[in-house]
Amino acid sequence: MEKYYADQHLHTSFSGDSDTPPEKQIERALSLGMSEMCFTDHHDYDMKSDVDFNLDFDAYIPEMQRLKDKYSRVIDISTGVELGLQLHIADYLDKLTEKYSYLDFIIGSNHVIDGIDPYFPVFFESNGSDSYERFFKVTLERIKRIKCYDSLGHLDYIVRYGKQHGLTYSYAEYADYIDEILRQLVTDGKALECNSGAFSRGMDEPNPCTDILKRFRELGGELVTLGSDAHSPETLGDRFPECGEILKSCGFKYYAVYKKRKPQMRAL
Ligand SMILES: [Zn+2]
Ligand SMILES: [Zn+2]
Repeated sequence: MEKYYADQHLHTSFSGDSDTPPEKQIERALSLGMSEMCFTDHHDYDMKSDVDFNLDFDAYIPEMQRLKDKYSRVIDISTGVELGLQLHIADYLDKLTEKYSYLDFIIGSNHVIDGIDPYFPVFFESNGSDSYERFFKVTLERIKRIKCYDSLGHLDYIVRYGKQHGLTYSYAEYADYIDEILRQLVTDGKALECNSGAFSRGMDEPNPCTDILKRFRELGGELVTLGSDAHSPETLGDRFPECGEILKSCGFKYYAVYKKRKPQMRAL
């Protein structure tokens, strides 16, 4: 079977918004021909939501180790987390990531802006046409202070929801903020995630869009990670061959896979 790129953004029933048993994700990865994968369940501390996005690390880690051992002959399973970044919890995040040194990989994501997830229409109602600008500005402020992550998740996450509110979008319009975000990643040696979850949400480009991936390379970015953001098996590894082509067209020859928080390069 042809080798399939490793999926490094995956949710299971350890995430508040998924009821998929981890083994279902493993079976799907095996059926696609993946030889490596990484679970990254949600931990969004101090997120005001009806859904509990706090991860029970003390149940999660032993279960991940059990699965890693069980499947070790057929697939290399890594353990990661998708960490919700917010400035006022920066110290908490530093301590948390020091404590759980077992983790292979940490995605830093921005799901909550001014206390609201742009998933909810009220964010767009309060910010109007400044919604995207606000999102990128806050992202930049956070990554200037917070360094305890490896890859910046779905940089233009907000676009997934902005479309429904009639907002158009191009990299060029927000280039000032986005370039500064990308430069900060390069300076800090962080990766940029190419998230294919956008496709199943009705978009025709990954998060972030091709122009941003290309700009990251132009600014000296070398580390990119690939993730589907699958909350159920159907979208695991979704459109990865296409994402590989996009990344190559942007000038990348490799993507990064993280083990014990260190990148290992794999050919695209
Ligand atoms: Zn996310
Ligand atoms: Zn996710």
